[in-house]
Amino acid sequence: MAEENAQQQSYGGGGGQRSSGPGGGPGGRPGGPAKRGKRNFVRKKKVCRFCVDKADFIDYKKAEILAPFIQERGKILPRRMTGTCARHQRWLTVAIKRAQNIALLPFAAEL
Ligand SMILES: [Zn+2]
Repeated sequence: MAEENAQQQSYGGGGGQRSSGPGGGPGGRPGGPAKRGKRNFVRKKKVCRFCVDKADFIDYKKAEILAPFIQERGKILPRRMTGTCARHQRWLTVAIKRAQNIALLPFAAEL
């Protein structure tokens, strides 16, 4: 004999609405769509041009080969921009500084 008490579900009564407190939502995780791989812009493959030339030294007297590695103001470009390898970048800085000393290249502008 099935009793009919299943119908008597407590409805919670007529409780008042909760006053919405200033509860900020729980900080959502930064679960954005992770773009991985697939870089759209094609990066030019940088290669150390001194390595390409198999340069064992960098001639500081040739300003024309040093010029692409400095900005107009005379600052030396970081090697992530030029692609020069670490070894040659060191040589390059030395060469550039020498070239600056003999006034082949401008010094970095001081602001
Ligand atoms: Zn190199």
